[in-house]
Amino acid sequence: MASFFSINAVQGSRREGSQVLAAVTRSPGEMVVGDVSGPGRARAGHVIVRPERVGICGSDFHLFSGDVGALSGSRDFYPRIQGHEVSAIVEDPGDSERTSGERVAIWPLLPCGDCYPCRIGRPNVCPAFRLVGVHLDGGLAERLEVPAGLVFAAGDLDPDSACFVEPASVAVHALARGRLRAGEQVVVFGAGPIGLATLVAAVHGSARVLSVDPVASRRDLAKRLGAELVAWAPPAELMELTREWTGGEGPPLIVETSGEAGVLAQAVELAPSAGRVVVVSLSSGTAPVRPGAFPEKEIDVIGSSCATAADFAAAIRLVVACRADIAQLFSHHFPLARAAEAFEFAMSRPPDAIKIVVTVN
Ligand SMILES: [Zn+2]
Ligand SMILES: [Zn+2]
Repeated sequence: MASFFSINAVQGSRREGSQVLAAVTRSPGEMVVGDVSGPGRARAGHVIVRPERVGICGSDFHLFSGDVGALSGSRDFYPRIQGHEVSAIVEDPGDSERTSGERVAIWPLLPCGDCYPCRIGRPNVCPAFRLVGVHLDGGLAERLEVPAGLVFAAGDLDPDSACFVEPASVAVHALARGRLRAGEQVVVFGAGPIGLATLVAAVHGSARVLSVDPVASRRDLAKRLGAELVAWAPPAELMELTREWTGGEGPPLIVETSGEAGVLAQAVELAPSAGRVVVVSLSSGTAPVRPGAFPEKEIDVIGSSCATAADFAAAIRLVVACRADIAQLFSHHFPLARAAEAFEFAMSRPPDAIKIVVTVN
């Protein structure tokens, strides 16, 4: 996959013509901020935007650190401009329905359109999909050209909230996969950005949430965002606490966002008969699960990945409705010039960090 940008003099600071400042991941662990040649006029079916904010996400670390084995598709990952959680202003709408000056959020997924999941309306698990910021250049540049179908109007959302639409869409998709019903009691493992987005989306859907996380400040935040109960306890104690909270029945829906492989085994035991367990986090570990629990309780264990275009549109409505809650998730901002530092900071996983954002324009 050819890059839309080519690297020119990276230390040059003079901008002329279509030179734009960008953070380029040139090779594993090497992110350089400098001038690159940006796009000219929008090509047919494309839109040129000026990215405003880019959220940093755990999945960005794979490409940044060279762990590309986990990534599907082309091997041609470097150099790459990263950033898939993008809010932007339309600069050149080309032949699209967008208008110049409009604030947008980017759905980062470009499916193949032909394969089995694409044909049955599940393009989010297309094995050949390309992602903005992974297989195509992403938002860490002052200007960016993207396929028009990925550009969604963000209405009057502020730039930070609009860049959170992408992680919010992951939560929306997870709850759709889990068939959340109003009034249900849901246990959400993990209170990072995806876990907290799942909490906000579930509470907005009139569910009652128990949030489980080892970090006290994250549990406090979960409480402020509407969790009925927050907890951190060894499995046996958590089991007891959850039973008590659900009047002895067990939670009908459990969502795993923590990335701890052992949580699946725990969730399978916590789930009541006919319960559902949704696994969202990409954990690389393994842990034994008792398969007999599946038929014994006829539980559904469901994977959830990224989001469809419909989920993305629903996520915009969610973020609009819950923007005061979402605003509490932005813990750190870095300017584009310090993007590499922002990545390194994010990868050190400081406990007080929730969503780390790069301010691009
Ligand atoms: Zn992400
Ligand atoms: Zn496909």
